[in-house]
Amino acid sequence: MSFIYLDHAATTPVHPNVVKEMLPYFTQSFGNASSRYHLGHQSFSALEIARTQLANVLHCDPCEIVFTSGGTESDNLALFGAAHAYQTLGKHIITTKIEHPAVKLSCAALEAEGFSVTYLPVSKDGSVSPCDVEKAIRPETILISVMFANNELGTIQPISEIGKIARQHDVLFHTDAVQAFCNVPIDVQAMQIDLLSLSGHKIYGPKGVGALYIRSGTSLHPILHGGQQENGQRAGTENVPAIVGLGYAAQYMGENLSTRTASVNDLRNYFEAQLSIMFPELIQNGSLGHRLPGHSNLTFPNVRAKQLMNHLNYHGIFASIGSACSCLTNSHSHVLRAIGKTDSEIESTIRFSLGYENSYADIDKAIQIIASEINNCRR
Ligand code: PLP
Repeated sequence: MSFIYLDHAATTPVHPNVVKEMLPYFTQSFGNASSRYHLGHQSFSALEIARTQLANVLHCDPCEIVFTSGGTESDNLALFGAAHAYQTLGKHIITTKIEHPAVKLSCAALEAEGFSVTYLPVSKDGSVSPCDVEKAIRPETILISVMFANNELGTIQPISEIGKIARQHDVLFHTDAVQAFCNVPIDVQAMQIDLLSLSGHKIYGPKGVGALYIRSGTSLHPILHGGQQENGQRAGTENVPAIVGLGYAAQYMGENLSTRTASVNDLRNYFEAQLSIMFPELIQNGSLGHRLPGHSNLTFPNVRAKQLMNHLNYHGIFASIGSACSCLTNSHSHVLRAIGKTDSEIESTIRFSLGYENSYADIDKAIQIIASEINNCRR
């Protein structure tokens, strides 16, 4: 079946070169990275190469990278790990109203344990104000967690400003960079980030693998108990082929970041410009000036988005309503609510997210199908 994939924020295809790099680690160099013989050493070296590849993109030391099973685990390790390690200093955490459930629900679980959490509001375009962050800091604040870029809107947060405030107040700063990693330049030192979550499957790497950057000197309580892998910070035999894929994908996507993202950005702008000509009532959500290159979150007033999405699906155009996670719950997007959308606007909103392998022909075809189906989906 031929299709046009416009849901790269949900996941990306694994790049063929990434698959090629991974393959030998399934059947040939399959040793346990902790084993003290040649096969084990080969796997251990592969992990160290991947650690260096990630460190090069983030501008940190390879020893500051811990491999995990993905963005969700990285977020859980950052939040629970920091909260439990630093709770003697205070039990207050600052986050935002638009975080991914991996952060949002970790915060809710910490509240149930007795931590108090401030959920900062965002502006109409989904931006967090650094001033609000600073005002929310109390003597007992131990952690600030603000996502680098939002998964639904694509809005990029003022991370350097927040990092500076956190460091001035001696508070740990975590950012969920699952959507931003390899889509915007990140320098954890310059941006004064202490903890950063990333995931393989958003960057043309495999699913079920990710990493947490932990600034040297930051101590986290482990959330998994078992072996001493990953310097005692994450128990469990490392998934060597997936980690090799993650490292290679990061290097590959990091190398061509500016040219790749510039062309995706142009294509996304073309998509929105063409749609706006056809549907002058169209609303573009999120920050137009500070947005991830492929994200296009659109409200088609008085159109039933779910129905339109199903019609597009029938024609092989894949996009989503909200995030992949919220599709499972059937609830209204907390992100669209936080930027002030009404129920009816939320029910008329679709997220398209483009990738570098989309062409202008794909986009023209998608626009043509949207135009032909939209009248069948009006309220
Ligand atoms: N954080 C953000 C912002 C995400 O978009 C996602 C996935 O959609 C996650 C965390 C979870 O990452 P993973 O799917 O690797 O567990």
